[in-house]
Amino acid sequence: MYNAKAFSAASATSPLASSTISRRDPTENDVQMEILFCGICHSDLHQARNEWSGVMPTVYPCVPGHEIVGRVTRIGSAVTKFKIGDIGAVGCMVDSDRTCPECRAGFEQFCPNMILTYNFPDKHTGGVTYGGYSESIVVDQNFVLRVPSNLDLAGTAPLLCAGITTFSPLHYWGVAKGRKVGIVGLGGLGHMGVKFAHALGAHVVVFTTSPSKKDDALRLGADEVVVSKNADEMAKHAGSFDFILDAVAAEHDINALVAQLRRDGNLTLVGAPEKPLPLSVFGLLMRRRSVSGSIIGGIAETQQMLDFCGQHNITADVEVIPIQKVNEAYQRLLRSDVKYRFSIDMASLKNN
Ligand code: NAP
Ligand code: ZN
Repeated sequence: MYNAKAFSAASATSPLASSTISRRDPTENDVQMEILFCGICHSDLHQARNEWSGVMPTVYPCVPGHEIVGRVTRIGSAVTKFKIGDIGAVGCMVDSDRTCPECRAGFEQFCPNMILTYNFPDKHTGGVTYGGYSESIVVDQNFVLRVPSNLDLAGTAPLLCAGITTFSPLHYWGVAKGRKVGIVGLGGLGHMGVKFAHALGAHVVVFTTSPSKKDDALRLGADEVVVSKNADEMAKHAGSFDFILDAVAAEHDINALVAQLRRDGNLTLVGAPEKPLPLSVFGLLMRRRSVSGSIIGGIAETQQMLDFCGQHNITADVEVIPIQKVNEAYQRLLRSDVKYRFSIDMASLKNN
């Protein structure tokens, strides 16, 4: 074991603060990385504040962060995928059982023994896993991704969660040229959804509560923008969408979005609000619509997403911040004031 600097939450109501955590020394299949950038996902905020207490209660101290890009500093004797000095990336998962039907099908995210990057039981230390708001991390090589060499690293970090979480359902639901696709909520996930849906050739419409984001939405690849609070703008598109991806982090009216779907259209939720959302059954009965969910993506699909980003030169639009500004960044997330992902320059942790 060794000590690593980190930023952690001591309770649901305390701000994140500088701390020291224990990490394992690399075992034979492990890669140790110096973390260069870590994105700030709204899930980090939900988890640090124990907003998902009913599903996955937070264990304190909590070190969030699951959008990690780093440089390999040590490797175990059996590591073949990386050498010292390589750039690697880690997303929301650090382990799974690798033998269950889900793992064998490439769906590690659905493995009953999957281990999330933070706030999950850590079989190596006996405690919980600690995420990327830290100077280093040690992860099994099978859960470390390769980063295409042409991509900017600060903008690559958010691909590891916001990227794969939007890429996976867009593929699963067959988004392509000729399809009309809605993206709801222009935040970290939403702006990646717009970039991917545009790159896949779809007609992309952004639903936003922030009229001030209209120009950005068009620049990011949207063909049209609907201010969801404006009933006339909503009525114009009613019953016309093949697919809608909902990336909203808070309570909102999903029935108004279901009404935007055509026959057999699907609304997939990736946002994970604290409270249940009421769903009107009649909206589904009419036109045989469906509502579903999706969570991140498997390891092979995550690599596929990164390679797609390399080919299309796609990264997140980031505001790079020092770790000392993380609490301020959380406040801004709550005001929907992020353009469009915070990426922490982890070199700033050396100042603590
Ligand atoms: P974010 O950057 O804070 O973006 C959320 C966006 O939702 C905001 O920018 C805002 O966009 C919109 N919004 C916020 N409050 C709203 C409200 N009351 N009504 C309507 N729209 C509202 O968050 P994020 O990091 O993208 O994460 C979004 C959600 O996805 C979070 O709940 C997060 O935990 C979840 N998540 C899920 C997965 C998964 O695997 N399923 C993975 C990562 C994150 P506008 O200003 O455009 O309205
Ligand atoms: Zn996330």
